[in-house]
Amino acid sequence: MILTVVGCAGSVPGPDAACSCYLLEHDGFRLLLDLGTGALGPLQRFADPCAIDAVVLSHRHRDHCSDLMLLAYLRDRRGAPGRLPVIAPAGTQAHVTDPTPRDYERVLDWRDPPAAPFRLGPLTIETAPVRHSVPALAVRVTAGAASLTYSGDTGECTELLDLARGTGVLLCEAAASVETPGSGAAHLTPSQAAHLAKSAGAAHLVLTHLRPWADPMAALREARGVYGGPLSLAAPGLRVAV
Ligand SMILES: [Zn+2]
Repeated sequence: MILTVVGCAGSVPGPDAACSCYLLEHDGFRLLLDLGTGALGPLQRFADPCAIDAVVLSHRHRDHCSDLMLLAYLRDRRGAPGRLPVIAPAGTQAHVTDPTPRDYERVLDWRDPPAAPFRLGPLTIETAPVRHSVPALAVRVTAGAASLTYSGDTGECTELLDLARGTGVLLCEAAASVETPGSGAAHLTPSQAAHLAKSAGAAHLVLTHLRPWADPMAALREARGVYGGPLSLAAPGLRVAV
């Protein structure tokens, strides 16, 4: 699998980064993890939006899902064939489609996350509920021996640790920091993300979802103090072989 970071900013877009959106490609199949504010633009640098095969939304906050309806509009106008599977926590659809005059039923195929691992093309998908201010999920994507676990937004929870055990890449949010007081229960600090990577035995930690006003070098230093393995900071265009 190849991971491409499309957008990685937390809460709001930054000057050089859209909000959360990650493209996973394997055997010609293209899966999006989240499609947050501003991400549809840069997505077009990396993939034809009509060639996306499925989307997993971690939760209903706008920095994770607001551009989905723009993708639906684009696919509708361009006559993209078929309906795009969208897996999201229950209740997400109503929030995401609320401000739009059309529900794009012809374009989008909303699905609740199954309790057991399921297949999307050549990929096996497993989700787990995580700890956030609204229903939210983390997701593990597996192809053969390769695996990536994406935290979505979460505070510390055993569900994420269990999902991430032995993962190849841990793509983990680190939005909580001293610059963002009060967000600790619903988000992870870089140190907590690093402890998670260490406890789970993740082979590679990719920190993501920093707010635009956070200091990325400080986040890296904080994580490096805990986790000794390969460590990266998400940035638009970053590609990682999973
Ligand atoms: Zn959130």
